Amino acid sequence: MTVTVLVVLVVLVLAVGLFVFRAIPGVRAYFGYRGKRLITCPETHTTEAVDVAAGEAAVGAFLSEPTLRLKECSRWPERQDCGQECLQQIEIDAENCLVWNIVSKWYEGKSCVFCHKPIGPLHHVDHAPALLAPDHTTLEWKQVQPEQLPEIFRTHRPVCWNCHIAESFRRLHPELVVNRELEPKRLR
Ligand SMILES: [Zn+2]
Repeated sequence: MTVTVLVVLVVLVLAVGLFVFRAIPGVRAYFGYRGKRLITCPETHTTEAVDVAAGEAAVGAFLSEPTLRLKECSRWPERQDCGQECLQQIEIDAENCLVWNIVSKWYEGKSCVFCHKPIGPLHHVDHAPALLAPDHTTLEWKQVQPEQLPEIFRTHRPVCWNCHIAESFRRLHPELVVNRELEPKRLR
């Protein structure tokens, strides 16, 4: 092996090492900032749903130039030129404003109003749990506009996916459902 090849190899190993070293905060920023979040708009004091530009945040972290910018907001496109001051709330606590975590926390410790089976925190592989509206219709939490979730959680009750499917069928095809005598007591 000539000295030149050895030097090239050492330089390559150093370059790869440096790249991996810089890539770690980039990857961490990407996974840390992706996903829909709920913030309180500093302008209107209402709950809004936002997306951080996670790819840009990752590149920023890779280059040691932290860049935090919004990619989407439920008030856009009308207020697309806002100062994005809500980003401070995400910087302070990125985990707790993540919609997934908010929903997961709400279902935790709650049981289905129909079958009383505990629902527990969300899992990516499971069917999404649902909600019972005051008008007794059920819907999946994913069908709700994210910024409306805090309000929905005040008025709706938890329903497991199985009961949501059964109740939807009962509502849409009442002619195919046989109600037994105990049925009125199902909803406690
Ligand atoms: Zn159930």
